[in-house]
Amino acid sequence: MKNFNPADNIQDLQCFGEFGGVNPSISDSSTYTFLSAKTMFDTFEGNMEGCYLYSRHSSPSNLYLDKALAAMEGTETANVSASGMGAITPTLLQLCGTGDHIVSSRTIYGGTYAFLKNFTPRLGIKTTFVDITKLAVVEAAITAETKVLYCETVSNPLLEVADIEGLSKIAKRHNLTLVVDNTFSPLSVSPARLGADIVIHSLTKYINGSSDTVGGVTCASREFIDSLKNVNSGASMLLGPTMDSLRSASVMKNLRTLHIRMKQHSHNAMYLAQRFEKDGLKTVYPGLESHPSHEIYKTMINPEYGFGGMITLDVGTLAKANELMELMQSKNLGYLAVSLGFYKTLFSAPGTSTSSEIPLEEQIEMGLTDGLIRFSIGLDNDIERTYQMMKACMMDLNILLS
Ligand code: PLP
Repeated sequence: MKNFNPADNIQDLQCFGEFGGVNPSISDSSTYTFLSAKTMFDTFEGNMEGCYLYSRHSSPSNLYLDKALAAMEGTETANVSASGMGAITPTLLQLCGTGDHIVSSRTIYGGTYAFLKNFTPRLGIKTTFVDITKLAVVEAAITAETKVLYCETVSNPLLEVADIEGLSKIAKRHNLTLVVDNTFSPLSVSPARLGADIVIHSLTKYINGSSDTVGGVTCASREFIDSLKNVNSGASMLLGPTMDSLRSASVMKNLRTLHIRMKQHSHNAMYLAQRFEKDGLKTVYPGLESHPSHEIYKTMINPEYGFGGMITLDVGTLAKANELMELMQSKNLGYLAVSLGFYKTLFSAPGTSTSSEIPLEEQIEMGLTDGLIRFSIGLDNDIERTYQMMKACMMDLNILLS
């Protein structure tokens, strides 16, 4: 990981606006004029670098954000989209067609799971879901039709860690494309540096960080991104999940503080995970030595950004989980809400919310228990105060006894 710091790569970019503005100008146009018809034709053919055609294809504002996110992930280029799903679905549809097969981690965001389980079979694309932490199981699931290996660096919601280097070796051996959703671990992990071919984010979460928009990005080679945007055959161009220029300009501004926020999210999450584990609660956090992939995750991260802001606590039953979340919200400790990466702590019971697309028996098999609460730990200034207040809620409900 020498000489690669994703936050420095963002910091080093300079893009000025018209009239010398310190922020790039926002391109508030859906279409662009050409001085000659020939240039317009060449742009359609994809042969005119620096010319803009139509904002569903690309716009100057989106290209600034593409550039910054590609710099962060260390890929040649990137393509932003209107949501995380708007990045995931065209990427997979660009890579796979009828008859093709995907091997995917079974613990992934519920929407992605539903897309692979219920939607892509309609197009003749099949997926085998596996325990991504068992490399031999992953390799055994590969068939002659497999095109893609899909996982999340840190999985939603169980916080399982994918050994990206190990998976990349398997992908190379079988000529597959390794697609990694890095939404839970921006800056902390740089999957492309570990061998991933394509890195995806839901920008909705940490990267934007203010829970005011949805957004997504696919970071990859220029060849792949050009194929996604191809006017005749590109899944992004033709399905149209384009981010609006005004929004990409605002995401870009938030991206600049990501490194500071990630450090604080990680610091706070580590603090609470250590305390609650010591108190005897079933706590899952990749920064704890008790996490099954702690050792490997330690080797994967850019250490200054820590182990991330996501924790799960198992409080026994769904009824207790619901009571606790309602009580914590009433004490203003956070919000009972899905999503993550906000300044305020967010909590939800994934079995009945973000992972409810996963059938109950499969939830049980993967260890997604009823009493599990997923926390996205916020940017609280005094985390000891937060800990004491959360602990008091748990004692009120007899989840903790002392
Ligand atoms: N990937 C992960 C890991 C997620 O948690 C989510 C949403 O929760 C998504 C992708 C989808 O992103 P979006 O909601 O921006 O479409």
